[in-house]
Amino acid sequence: MIYTCYDMVRDCRAGRAEGRSYFVSQYVPVIQKLVARYFPECAADGTLIGRLLVALDRPESSLFQSLDPAPERWFVAELRQRVLAAVEDFQGQPVPQPEIDLETLGSALEPLTMVEKQAAWLETMRYTAEEAGVLLRMDPRTVEKIRDKARERIRSCLNAWRRTLLADNGRPLGRAAALAHTEPCLADKAFLDVLDGRATWRGRDEMERHVSTCWHCIDHFCRLAEVVELLRRLTPLSEAGARPFYDVLGIPRRSEPAWKRWLR
Ligand SMILES: [Zn+2]
Repeated sequence: MIYTCYDMVRDCRAGRAEGRSYFVSQYVPVIQKLVARYFPECAADGTLIGRLLVALDRPESSLFQSLDPAPERWFVAELRQRVLAAVEDFQGQPVPQPEIDLETLGSALEPLTMVEKQAAWLETMRYTAEEAGVLLRMDPRTVEKIRDKARERIRSCLNAWRRTLLADNGRPLGRAAALAHTEPCLADKAFLDVLDGRATWRGRDEMERHVSTCWHCIDHFCRLAEVVELLRRLTPLSEAGARPFYDVLGIPRRSEPAWKRWLR
């Protein structure tokens, strides 16, 4: 039988080594990628991933409480939010007010389509045009053109503007968008259906109308696109790569069946 994310959540809740070691080998690479993207200034901090794991890996950690059942993508979407919040916590600085608020951004980019806003928003998540093109299945040159248009419009709305404004304000903007949830906002499933190609926006005018004016939904869609891509490229840690993290968490060394040792 295949061991799944669902089994992991159950075992982590019970504090079992099997679940905790699966969490390490499977999702440390995700955490590493998130830290590299959102906190490049922490790249040299060799203890950060270990400290994050200690914070996340507790039976009472709500990461393993809130999902039942826990399909993997929902779990990783939740993990993403917690990793970002935990690193900010460690940094101990209050998240600054963004230099541009969602309302200003909304009115600056008002004429843009939903997809164009997604392409622009991914800049707050530090995605280059190339990378955003992969996430949105769009030609990177188109992404760049959209971003040029967005930059021009934002520049005309602000007194102080610079090219990296969206990327520099990514975290406070992301926080604000996450909090801006309203009643008509879409659930994960609607976005995942689009990302999986099970549904398109076509014919769903009402949904598209909402999403194209709602930064919470634009951010939510982009975060799920990120999760899908992270999981697509996921390579679990090897036993040797995971070992230091098992040690940090005090997960006992697994005794290997003799036949496996012979194979090595
Ligand atoms: Zn919404």
